[in-house]
Amino acid sequence: MPKPRRSRAVRPPARAAALPRHGGLAVPWITGWFDGRPYFGVNFPLRRIQCIKYRLCQFCREPLGRRIGLIVRPADIAVGYVDEPAMHPECHDYAVAVCPMLNGSLDHYRAAPPAAVAGLIAVQASRAGKPAEAYEAWYITPSGYEIAYGPDGAVLGIRLDVPVLMKRPVRAAARPRLTDEHAALLRQVLALESSLEGPATS
Ligand SMILES: [Zn+2]
Repeated sequence: MPKPRRSRAVRPPARAAALPRHGGLAVPWITGWFDGRPYFGVNFPLRRIQCIKYRLCQFCREPLGRRIGLIVRPADIAVGYVDEPAMHPECHDYAVAVCPMLNGSLDHYRAAPPAAVAGLIAVQASRAGKPAEAYEAWYITPSGYEIAYGPDGAVLGIRLDVPVLMKRPVRAAARPRLTDEHAALLRQVLALESSLEGPATS
């Protein structure tokens, strides 16, 4: 029986050697696990804060180096910070190559994870089921690494109003899919039309 075909095998960076694997992919250190399986794109809140505060790579957990990669969406630019921690350039490249949201093979965020997992991770709940946004890769330096704090002193993320070495597009935004609300409305309209045109049913 033929094995399911995997898209081009991309090797994780050497510094990620100790990371657990799932489905052939290296699981980022920040990724949340529940019931023995990882939820890619769902982050452990505490690890997110640790990464941002101590300048660790969210992927391999090692200290960041001279070039620091960020994944930036328009919504992040609007608020002035990115809530996802940074990555080494090579960890960043691997994530961009294999993550279906980043490489464009998925055009919608996964539906919300099980409630037990969702309880762990409030940050991404608002993205669940929504069309993928446009992503950019930004590279900054250690001197441009600044933490964004909320009025209560909470760590919000990494500031984006800093000198940026390079920006490049990672993926375009996906076209919005018909929402449930719109689909229901459409069905009502169609039902109304058919009841007007078709033979009366009782
Ligand atoms: Zn790394």
